[in-house]
Amino acid sequence: MKKYDTAQRKQLLAFFEAHCHEQFSIDEIVAALSEKEPIERSVVYRNVDRMLREGLLHKSARENSRKFYYQYVGSSQCHKRLHLQCTECGRIFHIENQADEEQIKQVLRNNGLLLDEQKTVLMGPCRRCGEHLHKPPE
Ligand SMILES: [Zn+2]
Ligand SMILES: [Zn+2]
Repeated sequence: MKKYDTAQRKQLLAFFEAHCHEQFSIDEIVAALSEKEPIERSVVYRNVDRMLREGLLHKSARENSRKFYYQYVGSSQCHKRLHLQCTECGRIFHIENQADEEQIKQVLRNNGLLLDEQKTVLMGPCRRCGEHLHKPPE
């Protein structure tokens, strides 16, 4: 591993930790990090790829977009938690009550599935966007 990779990995980790419930495309990450100091896309890409393999990031696609988005799931508050994602605004959040989350997992276990939280994101419009969607047309 080259030395400069280590510094940039730290930079990336700090960035993701500071925005742990947001998603970013590679371009957005490059732009955000470059505000301080120019960083090459290939370096970001390589580090993101490695963090993905280490299970620190979650990768997802959005409808109507060919881009991939990355989100940090390596923080302790995200460990073994189920994430929900809004298909409208892209927001990622936790189930508020952990007992509720445990119930979902129990139902799955009862049906023979041990949930892989790392790979699972439940998708749908969030409460905020859902209200907006259900508003009658004016
Ligand atoms: Zn989380
Ligand atoms: Zn939403």
